[in-house]
Amino acid sequence: MNSMSRRIFVAALPLVAVGLASAVRAQGGSPVIAGVTLFQNVRIFDGKSGSLSAPSSVLIKGNGIERISTAPIAAEPGVTVIAGGGRTLMPGLIDAHWHAMLVRPSPADAIAGDVGFNNLVAGAEATDTLMRGFTTVRDMGGPTFGLKRAIDLGIVPGPRIYPSGAMITITGGHGDFRQLSDLPRTIGGLLSRMEQIGGSMVADSPDEVRLRTREQLMQGASQIKLTAGGGVSSPFSPIDASTFTEAELRAAVEAAENWGTYVTVHAFTPAAIQRAIAAGVKCIEHGFLMDETTAKLIAEKGVWLSLQPLPEELRQGFPVGSVQRAKADEVWPGIAATYELAKKYRIKTAWGTDVLFSQALAQQQGAILASLVRWYSPAEALTMATATNAELLALSGKRSPYPGKLGVVEQGAVADLLLVEGNPAENINLIADPAKNFKVIMKDGRVYKNAL
Ligand SMILES: [Zn+2]
Repeated sequence: MNSMSRRIFVAALPLVAVGLASAVRAQGGSPVIAGVTLFQNVRIFDGKSGSLSAPSSVLIKGNGIERISTAPIAAEPGVTVIAGGGRTLMPGLIDAHWHAMLVRPSPADAIAGDVGFNNLVAGAEATDTLMRGFTTVRDMGGPTFGLKRAIDLGIVPGPRIYPSGAMITITGGHGDFRQLSDLPRTIGGLLSRMEQIGGSMVADSPDEVRLRTREQLMQGASQIKLTAGGGVSSPFSPIDASTFTEAELRAAVEAAENWGTYVTVHAFTPAAIQRAIAAGVKCIEHGFLMDETTAKLIAEKGVWLSLQPLPEELRQGFPVGSVQRAKADEVWPGIAATYELAKKYRIKTAWGTDVLFSQALAQQQGAILASLVRWYSPAEALTMATATNAELLALSGKRSPYPGKLGVVEQGAVADLLLVEGNPAENINLIADPAKNFKVIMKDGRVYKNAL
């Protein structure tokens, strides 16, 4: 190549890159375009107030709620009319702690199985998730970027995904599923299988944390997930262990904040939670072993607490005598105690399920939400899974993949809606049987189910 042709070649590179990017975006068709839909005679649970509206009409144009009125709205030609018959119209549900790639596969498949197979399984589960009325999930770790793209393009029906990408852990920490035979690791050396597929990344210094954080952001992560303490399901991390140093946590926080978003951490103990808050972490996942002092600190700092009313079946699923079972037995009593603390100190509390490796448990997603009535009224529980969870999603700022307001039924909000037989703000158990009780499921203005 002579110097002239080299100059032309180098100058053309950005254009080639732009061309490639748009070709990649265009693969597999364009996003689904929604039409115009008119709900008539519905009573609205708007995600904020506990009581239902008077009978109303709700007009959906494109992907948004155009107009809400107690006076009839005329149906113009070409409009799809849904006669609500006095049923309840509510926001689509949001699960704030989900793992779209880890719901159905076995742990062995998730970590070492075929990536194509795992994505097809996750696609089928994503469709079921949407059919349970969950129109958005906040993904707390796993290689979801491809699945999310396929859903957003309308190739596979599924919920909106706020992806974290790989969860970031230390050597031996929660999310490090390597075997002892994989040790020792050489920094800069070969990646383990779980790292190659983007499930979790091991980082053992501020520099490594920064690098892995930036890699997730480059792929489109809307928030960053680190594991700041030991976990139940991972083989080597003791529950009482704090994992990352404050400097390591701060490296992730700085990289995420530079990008306009935030870090959330898996943490159970007061020590792990307090260190994370000192480093600037904005949300704590689980927190089940916290004490009063820590609860007060979370409240004072305005940090989010993302809680899950983990079902008893999950604890019993760990074999008796296993390390995981012993850890689960230690953590489980803390669930109720933590909900009590969250209420006592009025902590900003999100709701999620954290279902892992069980299609059967995933089918209980609505029932797990309904189980919140141990601590909250049905309307409070529904608010948490809609408007409140949407507030947490909004912490992603401009890194939110979905512009517009989620989790509420109001003019101008995104049209993610459920039409429910009965009033779930009084009888929340309706949510536990979506096949029967969710008559219409709409996401982004498009009807995915209409059983009327
Ligand atoms: Zn989780």
